[in-house]
Amino acid sequence: MQFSDLPLHETILRAIAQENYRTATPVQEKAIPLVLAKKDVIVSAQTGSGKTAAFALPIIQMLLDGQNSEKKKKRIKALVVSPTRELALQIEENFKNYSKFTDLKTTTVYGGVSLNPQKEALKEGVDILIATPGRLIDLHMQEQVDLRSLKMFVLDEADLMLDMGFINDVKKIESYCPQKKQTLLFSATMPEKIVALANRTLINPEKVEI
Ligand code: AMP
Repeated sequence: MQFSDLPLHETILRAIAQENYRTATPVQEKAIPLVLAKKDVIVSAQTGSGKTAAFALPIIQMLLDGQNSEKKKKRIKALVVSPTRELALQIEENFKNYSKFTDLKTTTVYGGVSLNPQKEALKEGVDILIATPGRLIDLHMQEQVDLRSLKMFVLDEADLMLDMGFINDVKKIESYCPQKKQTLLFSATMPEKIVALANRTLINPEKVEI
């Protein structure tokens, strides 16, 4: 499937063309229409499958669609939680590339570095926040992160997140978010504990298996 067959903004298609992506990967072909249809989605896909674009492209699309009805001030409307700093930075790079012809703002917060630059970035206003769990909770406790306008929530590499012991952190982060939101869960494997997490967190999810 060509990207131009998907209902994506011209600004997004232009950015994808610059990345030299020609056709959508299977996970993109299946997941993008479901996300655009506002479904909760659970996706089992490996790194390398193109899964980041499978959530980033429709998120950018939906935030652009919502821009006219939103107030001018930038509030966090999409949150991607990732287990490691390296993955979080890769996700940020993807979002920035795909949204380069828009005025959407993306930033990343992660542990192991000083808080102040991240606090400053948050103060400037952010549409899309990528975060590792511990640092996000820290910043929330310091009232530097407001998730009350959140529309879309992504748990990436959910199996790795649970293996690394982040289950209680994930529950805490969920408690910061509005109940009414769209949730996407990505995991390379689907052990019982991921199914249980999905059952608790997602509403009537569509399933995509690659
Ligand atoms: P991911 O699975 O999200 O880590 O993506 C793996 C790599 O594939 C990244 O370097 C992406 O830039 C690249 N990629 C994602 N989607 C496509 C596509 N449709 N065509 C070509 N490359 C892609």
